[in-house]
Amino acid sequence: MTVRRANEHLPFGEKRDPRFFGQDILSVKQFDRQDLETIFAVGHEMRGMVERVGTFDLLKGKVLTNLFYEPSTRTSSSFVAAIERLGGSVIQINNVTYSSVSKGESLRDTVRTLESYSDAIVLRHPEQGSAAEAAKAASKPVINAGDGPGEHPTQALLDAYTIVEEMGNLDGLTVTMLGDLKYGRTVHSLARLLTLFDMKVNYVSPESLRMPTELVAEVDDAGIPQIETTDLESVLPETDVLYVTRIQKERFGSETEYDAVKDSYVITNESMSTAKDNMVVMHPLPRVGEIAEEFDADPRAAYFRQMEYGMYVRMALLALVLGRA
Ligand code: ASP
Repeated sequence: MTVRRANEHLPFGEKRDPRFFGQDILSVKQFDRQDLETIFAVGHEMRGMVERVGTFDLLKGKVLTNLFYEPSTRTSSSFVAAIERLGGSVIQINNVTYSSVSKGESLRDTVRTLESYSDAIVLRHPEQGSAAEAAKAASKPVINAGDGPGEHPTQALLDAYTIVEEMGNLDGLTVTMLGDLKYGRTVHSLARLLTLFDMKVNYVSPESLRMPTELVAEVDDAGIPQIETTDLESVLPETDVLYVTRIQKERFGSETEYDAVKDSYVITNESMSTAKDNMVVMHPLPRVGEIAEEFDADPRAAYFRQMEYGMYVRMALLALVLGRA
């Protein structure tokens, strides 16, 4: 009897999990609990490898395109770090004014061009639905790194991974999302992803920046208890994860509209005095005043650790999508 090992016929190092290999990553809706377990397990291995050897050749020979039509610090640089730590390389386009986009090239044509040089494309774009549109034009995998106020699936994966690393699990927790829940794509993706777990969710925002009703309905359909309020104090004592967001200035029609809500909530040492000792405060960053710097020294401040987890999760995703995890 011949014992065939899984993936035996593939070139050295190739391991293709059909749930991920060659797939676009467009929305968290495409994942189930088992997918998350896989991503987190691979992410955990990536962390161990980075701690032991720093850089290794799992994705040697693979080229990633980072195509950013909107500003980014963490998402863009963590994808660069992720592919480079895995031995691959990156085509970085983060100032489209210097590319043919400024000559009027369509997103579809730009994506078709870049996929002929690379193995996957990470795309950030101001329009909701743009990643899905790019994925239709491309034959290589497209990873949505934020489509306007739509979704930010890789952020939600790293957020969920952060919760597991910090709190030990995802089931049984109360998550409070605070800030701009209308335009914040990270909370849209996270709320959807949390429906895979046994959670309770509170939404705290100014009246004008409430979570979109269709999203609340989706979460409700999944049987997740939700509370909407403008009053943080009323839900803070029961909160296990406080997920703070920035008011998304760039999505407002006018400066006056933004000014009316910009300082609605500010986390300080004092405002956190009624919160549990065993809880975490997260933020996708950048922050623009909604968490006072004095709180950074508090052990519950997890937002800087959250950034680091992001690199491991993105390493895991790249390895899975490119067929080597
Ligand atoms: N960096 C996150 C995003 O791109 C959060 C933010 O910008 O407020 O959505």
